[in-house]
Amino acid sequence: MADAETEREALLAAIANVADRLAAEREYLTDLDSAIGDADHGTNMDRGFEAALEQAESTDGDAAAIVKTVGTALVSAVGGASGPLYGGSIMSASAELEEGIAPETTVAFAEAYLEKVQDRGDAQVGAKTMVDALVPAVHTYKRSIEVDDLPPVEALRKAADAAERGVAFTVPLRAKKGRASYLGWRSVGHRDPGATSTLLIVEELLATAEEFLDEVDGGSDATAPTEPDIGADDAETENGDAVGEEGE
Ligand code: ADP
Ligand code: MG
Repeated sequence: MADAETEREALLAAIANVADRLAAEREYLTDLDSAIGDADHGTNMDRGFEAALEQAESTDGDAAAIVKTVGTALVSAVGGASGPLYGGSIMSASAELEEGIAPETTVAFAEAYLEKVQDRGDAQVGAKTMVDALVPAVHTYKRSIEVDDLPPVEALRKAADAAERGVAFTVPLRAKKGRASYLGWRSVGHRDPGATSTLLIVEELLATAEEFLDEVDGGSDATAPTEPDIGADDAETENGDAVGEEGE
């Protein structure tokens, strides 16, 4: 990306966008978790990212330090299964951003994050967890950058689409990990809350990238005009549940 100041501005904007989105979707995530868990995922994530934003804003360090702060804030503020999974994995993966934010470093970050989530949670695709959204998102992002040579914004757009399909894929599954697994067959027929929060986060990373990065060259010129209003926030789930903006 551009200079350290622009990176910081973009990162803080990303964290703020994620925090706003999770606050807006708090009830929705909690409803999902009340169907197959203990009805706290929305409040957990909202509380976590509110703390993450506050602490990130008061961090002076570089991109890696800011992202690491997000991880530590999530570990201490989220709790439950998702706190250490999200927070601990972000903390470890933040080391991949020590050279700054660039297509290659963000791929390395995404891969390291996925690897940590799977190390910690021991969930494979199909266990009805956040991994079901994360694996397609990360693989699609990596392929789009490294094989298809797409600009990061386009790669993130494909990753968000892949995550959305991953969330839909969780609906007919029987949970094999986490609290939902206690329900056995009764977990079938519901979308997974953690996969859904993962999708919301990827969507907000996309919305931020659209704001800060030029689509053509992947953002080497952060001042280049960006495409306005392409509706990244208007995501609708396949059964019409509102995952869109508040008040719609
Ligand atoms: P808790 O289950 O402790 O109440 P949350 O409600 O915040 O925590 O988060 C639940 C989400 O955590 C699930 O929807 C699932 O996506 C994710 N999760 C739970 N266990 C695992 C695991 N072992 N691996 C990956 N993700 C998991
Ligand atoms: Mg819960």
